[in-house]
Amino acid sequence: MTVESAVQAVYLVAAVLFVLSLAGLSKQETARRGVLLGMAGMGLALVATVALALDRSERPVGVTAGLILLVLLVGAAVGTWRARTVEMTQMPELIALLHSFVGAAAVLVGYGSYLTEPRTTGAGTTVHHVEVFLGVLIGAVTFTGSVVAFGKLSARLRSSPLMLPGRNWLNLAAVVACGALLWWFLAAGSTEGSTEDSTAGGAGLVPLLLMTVVALALGWHLVAAIGGGDMPVVVSMLNSYSGWAAAAAGFMLGNDLLIITGALVGSSGAILSYLMCRAMNRSFVSVILGGFGAEPGAVVEGGAVEPGSYRETTALEVADRLTAARSVIVVPGYGMAVAKAQYPVADLVARLAARGVTVRFGIHPVAGRLPGHMNVLLAEAKVPYDQVLGMDEINDDFPRTDVVLVIGANDTVNPAAQDDPASPIAGMPVLEVWRAREVVVFKRSMATGYAGVQNPLFFRENTAMLFGDAKDQVELIVQALSAPAGP
Ligand code: NDP
Repeated sequence: MTVESAVQAVYLVAAVLFVLSLAGLSKQETARRGVLLGMAGMGLALVATVALALDRSERPVGVTAGLILLVLLVGAAVGTWRARTVEMTQMPELIALLHSFVGAAAVLVGYGSYLTEPRTTGAGTTVHHVEVFLGVLIGAVTFTGSVVAFGKLSARLRSSPLMLPGRNWLNLAAVVACGALLWWFLAAGSTEGSTEDSTAGGAGLVPLLLMTVVALALGWHLVAAIGGGDMPVVVSMLNSYSGWAAAAAGFMLGNDLLIITGALVGSSGAILSYLMCRAMNRSFVSVILGGFGAEPGAVVEGGAVEPGSYRETTALEVADRLTAARSVIVVPGYGMAVAKAQYPVADLVARLAARGVTVRFGIHPVAGRLPGHMNVLLAEAKVPYDQVLGMDEINDDFPRTDVVLVIGANDTVNPAAQDDPASPIAGMPVLEVWRAREVVVFKRSMATGYAGVQNPLFFRENTAMLFGDAKDQVELIVQALSAPAGP
C-alpha cells in the first residue's frame, strides 16, 4: 500500500469520526463523547496530513519535518495558553477570532495555490481559477467579518449597527464588482499559459488583488451593519462561512478531508443560523445580506419606555418567598456567566427540590454570548438535564409559577420585544417571566443588556430588583435557607 492510499483510508475514517462527533454534539447527554470522537478524528487527520507532506516533500525529509514540527509547536503552545486562560465569558470573542484565522488561511492558500500553479490553459485550469477566486472571496469576507464580530463581542467596537446611507446598494455593488473581477480573472488566466511570460502571478493577479480588497470591505460592512441583539445569528453565520472557506481551501489543495470537514462545519453552521433566526423571529435571507439589526431611525437606546419606579428587595426576603413557593423557574442569562453563579444556583435549586418545590430552568436560545452558553454552564454545575427546559417548552408554564428568579438575564426577558414595535428587539421571542406571580431580577444596577434597550419588566408591579453580584446574592439566599428556622 502506498503512503497516498493509506492516507486516503485514514481520511475516510477521520471523516466518519467527524460525522459521529457532530451527531454526539447534538445532545447534552452525548456531547462529551462527541467531543472525544472529534478529537480522535482531528488527531488522525493531522498524522495523515503530516505523513503525506513528508511523502511528497521535494526538500530533504528532515527539513520538512523540522518545519512542520516548529509550526505545530508554536500553534499548540499558543492554543494551549489561550484555552487555559480564556474566561467562559470570553469564549464568543475567541471563537470569532478563530473564525478569522480560517478566513485568513483560505486567502493565503488561495494566493499560494495561484502563484505556484503551473501556467497552463484548459478546462482544468479554469476550474482551479474559479476555486481560487471563490476561496479568496469567502476567506476575505470571513476574515474581516470575524474581526468586526470579535471587536463587537469584546466591546472594543460599539455594538450598535453601522447605518451607512444606501448600505444595501453598497453590498450589491460589491457583489457585482466581484462578478466582473471574476470575469477579468478568468479571461487573464485563459491567455497566460499561451504567452512566453509565464512568471508566477501573471495577469490575473491584479483582478485577484482588487477582489480581495472589495471582499475585505464587504465582510467588514456586512457585520458592522448588524445591531447588538442580532449578533448571535451573525456569529453562527460566520461559523458557517469559515466552514465554506475551509472547504474552498480543500478544493484548492485537492484535499478531500478538508472539503468534507469544511462542508460539515459550513452546513451545520448554516442550520444553526437558520434555527437561531427562527428563535429570534428574523429572516434568514436578510441575515446573509447583512444589516437587518435595526432600520434607520429606530431608537436604539431606551426604546419608547418611560422608566418608572422600581421595587428593591433583599436576599432574606427572597429566601422567605422561596420557602413559601411551590413552583419556581430560574431564568439565567449572561450575568450568571459573568458572576460565575452557576454553582450556588445549582445548590439553591437542589435545596429547593429537596424541600418538594418544583424547580426548573427556562433557557432562551440566545441567552449569554454564544449558542448553548447557559446549557454549558449548568452542565458544568451538574444540574440534571431534565430540569433544563427550552423557551418553547416552558413559556406556557409561567402563569402557573409562584416565583421566577431572573439571574443576570435582561434582553431575553424584555416584554418590549412583544409590546413595543419601535424597539430594536421587536419581534424577538422572549421568556414571558412577567406572567408569573412574582419575579425577582438579579443584577448589579439598572443598566441595559447587550442590545442597549431599556427593560420595562423592571418597573412592573410584580417585579422586585435584587441588586448586587448574582453569585453573592444567591449564596446569601442559600445561607438563609440553610439557617435553622427561628423559635
Ligand atoms: P443581557 O446581555 O441582555 O444582560 C445581562 C445582564 O446581566 C445585564 O443587564 C447585567 O446588568 C447583568 N449582569 C452582568 N454581570 C452581572 C453580575 N456579576 N451579577 C448580576 N448581574 C450581572 O443577557 P441575556 O442573556 O438576557 O441576553 C443575551 C444578549 O446577548 C441578547 O441580546 C443576545 O442577542 C446577545 N448575544 C447573544 C449571543 C449568543 O449566541 N447567545 C451572541 C452575541 C450576543 P448589570 O450590569 O446591571 O449587572
